[in-house]
Amino acid sequence: MKVTIEIRPNSDRVKDIEFCCDAMKRARNDKFVGIGDHEYHDGNTVNIYDYVHEEYWDEREIFYCPFCGTKIEITKIVISKEQIQEEKKRIQERKNSILRDIENKKAELKRVKELEEEENKNGT
Ligand SMILES: [Zn+2]
Repeated sequence: MKVTIEIRPNSDRVKDIEFCCDAMKRARNDKFVGIGDHEYHDGNTVNIYDYVHEEYWDEREIFYCPFCGTKIEITKIVISKEQIQEEKKRIQERKNSILRDIENKKAELKRVKELEEEENKNGT
């Protein structure tokens, strides 16, 4: 199993998971296995959870898949504040571009409606 985690200034994020087997994928989906998604955890390990009660659980870091025995490999990518700023800028630019497209389409629709009204007037 290969896991890629982005280490960000404020919070870490699981970027990609390449599962070793279907059993591990199911365990992750059923939340028996988590990747640093525990509030008391540092966020950089794959953990198996033991549910004592639905409100209480314990966790242990695992290094091999308990189902197929494949080694768990974790790749950490450190994201700087500058990279986050760049990312935000790109998202904002994309958003502006979409908004411009919407405005252009609205104007186009208005022109089409005007032509349609003109045709209807001429028709009657
Ligand atoms: Zn496995």
